Amino acid sequence: MRRVLVALVAITAIVSAAVYLADRPGAVTIVWHGWRIDTSVAALALAAVFAIFAFGWSFALLRRLVAAPRNFVRARRERRRREGYRALTYGMAAVAAGDPDEAERCARRANALLDEPPLTRLLAAQAAQLKGDTAAARDYFTAMLAEPETEFLGLRGLIVQALARGEDGVALKLAERARALRPRTGWVQRALVELEARAGRWDAAEGRLVEALRRGVIPPNEGRHHRAAILYERGLAAQAAGRNGEALKLAGQAHHADPGFAPATAWYASLLAADGNTRRARKAIEAGWRVTPHPTLAAAYGALYADEPPLARIKRFERLQSLKPDHVEGRVALAEATLKARLWGEARRHLTEAGIDHADASPRLYRLMASLEEAEHADGGRSRSWLERAARTTSPDPAYACNACGFETVTWTPLCPRCRSFDQLVWRLRPGHGDVAATGLPPLMAGAPIDAPRRAVVGSAALPPVDADVAQR
Ligand SMILES: [Zn+2]
Repeated sequence: MRRVLVALVAITAIVSAAVYLADRPGAVTIVWHGWRIDTSVAALALAAVFAIFAFGWSFALLRRLVAAPRNFVRARRERRRREGYRALTYGMAAVAAGDPDEAERCARRANALLDEPPLTRLLAAQAAQLKGDTAAARDYFTAMLAEPETEFLGLRGLIVQALARGEDGVALKLAERARALRPRTGWVQRALVELEARAGRWDAAEGRLVEALRRGVIPPNEGRHHRAAILYERGLAAQAAGRNGEALKLAGQAHHADPGFAPATAWYASLLAADGNTRRARKAIEAGWRVTPHPTLAAAYGALYADEPPLARIKRFERLQSLKPDHVEGRVALAEATLKARLWGEARRHLTEAGIDHADASPRLYRLMASLEEAEHADGGRSRSWLERAARTTSPDPAYACNACGFETVTWTPLCPRCRSFDQLVWRLRPGHGDVAATGLPPLMAGAPIDAPRRAVVGSAALPPVDADVAQR
């Protein structure tokens, strides 16, 4: 609108000037070096306007000619920069797609085109890592430490490498440095908890965990379980050192941090019972059972009443079972108790209710039935056939399964026996069903920007499996 107005004003001014000059033609005479020019004022004004435009155009043309070489260089640089970034993008895509050769080619191209070592070094490091050239990747990561903008990424790459080599001490030192740079980063805080735990420094691990929880990088639910595991280990260490009072206190704290953590709850109950506090021991086990019925809790419950007559013990187990009536573990516990009390019919009923007739019944039910046949009828043949079924079935017994590598074990340990991840063993009624991919990479490194292709697998592995039969750890 403004431009239209300006144009209108200009046209009006020119037309007015032209009309004014046409009305008053006047005469101009120029005498110069023996030349004489007679003309009108209008013609002179027109000639002056032409002369001004001609000068302007010549000046613009000259300026473009002078600037041409510089513009050519600038355009070339711009084109190289664009191509360099394109190579970088394709390289990153190749890394994500797991194509090491293409990634390396793009890294070399980007390096030749771009004068930005921090960026191209990262791609080169990823390409080398993808190719399995750990030495080259380490060199790139180490070079990245020198630049402030890539120091953190370099540290991360070196930490992943140190963990892969099993050099936890080196990884811990690097993680400390990463924490000083970015204390609010989740994986750094997790790495510190994990590495202190791996070193068995439970006090330090607890301190790191408290910090991680305070910063909100570990969800409260997960944090509670980690805390219970750490307190449990601290309690066991206190007991081993003969500090029984402290052990009892820590066992209680572990139980209260996560009552569903069966190893701590069962141990706490056994310490209370040894102290003559059977009632509190019972309440602790029942609190744990309400969260997660577990064979360890059933065994601890039975131990509390080992001296009672069989029928009284069965009443106890019936009470325990009624706390979680739909859970198979209560039926199995009752089947064992009635079998011990030689109540054959009852034992059979509980085994049936536990699902022994189902096609996917677990071997422990067949083994119990074999014991029953042996005890009731002294029938070796039938007992053996049940044991054979137990050996044949592909359904697994409940076990702990590692969230990170899928390793299965019946005994809980703070570190996975195979991949040494801290507190990743989860109690499962059906281990091996819907298990995570075994990547061998600790979950603390899940979601790593350095390790994009593996992240896709490990990232999902680090999530708690959504599985109906998964019990708490
Ligand atoms: Zn594992």
